[in-house]
Amino acid sequence: MSGFRTGSFDRGRISSMFHAFLPAHAVASLLEVDLEDLWEKGKRLILLDVDHTIVKWRAEEFPDGIEDWVNRAKAKGFDLCILSNTRNPERLARLATRLGIETVRDKFKPSPAMFRLAMIKFKRKPEESIMIGDQIFTDILGANRSGIDAIWVQKMEGREFAGTRVSRFGEKLLRSTLYKALVSPVDESPEDPDLEEAKPSGKRALIRQIIKFCIVGGTSFIIDFGLSMLFLRFIPWNGMLLSEALGGWLQTTLPQFFSWAKDAPTAAIPILGGTASFIAMFNSFIWNRSWTFKVKGKAERLAQLRRFYTISILGAIWNTLIFSAFSNIIDGHPNRSLFIAKVIAAGVVAVWNFLGQRYYAFRVAK
Ligand SMILES: [Mg+2]
Repeated sequence: MSGFRTGSFDRGRISSMFHAFLPAHAVASLLEVDLEDLWEKGKRLILLDVDHTIVKWRAEEFPDGIEDWVNRAKAKGFDLCILSNTRNPERLARLATRLGIETVRDKFKPSPAMFRLAMIKFKRKPEESIMIGDQIFTDILGANRSGIDAIWVQKMEGREFAGTRVSRFGEKLLRSTLYKALVSPVDESPEDPDLEEAKPSGKRALIRQIIKFCIVGGTSFIIDFGLSMLFLRFIPWNGMLLSEALGGWLQTTLPQFFSWAKDAPTAAIPILGGTASFIAMFNSFIWNRSWTFKVKGKAERLAQLRRFYTISILGAIWNTLIFSAFSNIIDGHPNRSLFIAKVIAAGVVAVWNFLGQRYYAFRVAK
């Protein structure tokens, strides 16, 4: 796995909602696990994952040094136990026999079942046990749920089970957060290309912001559309629709402003549709502030909200102007010209909103 970093983790450095996924240490291979250090810390029971921790997926031969490491652990006095619910118990039995260590089988990790079973088998407490495995969502999470410290090993080279590849994607998303808790990186040489990759470059951070911005935009569109339909088509008012009542009132009270509308509900669109957009903008504000542009703290929040609405309302005005102008300019079937005009307007306004939010509304963010 590229970008893998090693060292010890300090829980206090990240939010408690991530503690369940946090290992105590990370190492590049099982061979780097320091047996003397574990013994000094009072660990007596070593729980081992199989695939990509002690042997490659589906392989029968251990990589160099693994058998020797297990023998040294046994010689030191450790109990060792494999936790596995593989669908190929014969292979597991062959591997365990070759290493001369026990195995337990039970519910899939991250269930604490196998961890508990192993501790009962060897009469050890959680604080005397250590889990070593390559997967955050099974090995590390299961250990933490059982009160056992975990060592995260970098997965071995080579292919793996399709389901594992999905969870690797989740690991990748989680990794940057977990690394915030890394306190003693051992491989901090600046020429290490993996380490360079672990920090997102400016360009990658920008791409990430754009993707998040589009996702937030999508949710706001759904809110805008849903509320518009609700306000215009469903909310009743004195035996008719709110949009009919409000539009009719606007047309009789302010005819000079609403003579353009073909009927009463249409006259209510600027007010009711505008209200829906205004609410949807607030959704964008909340998520783009904390998630897309990662602004922390409450300072300046009101000023940001004001700047954000200035940008967004100007954006809505651009949208209408560009849409009208291009619909007029583009020849051909009205459906075609309206569609092209709308796409151009939406594209220009998305760029406007993104730049406006990034460099103006949330400018405290670097
Ligand atoms: Mg594994």
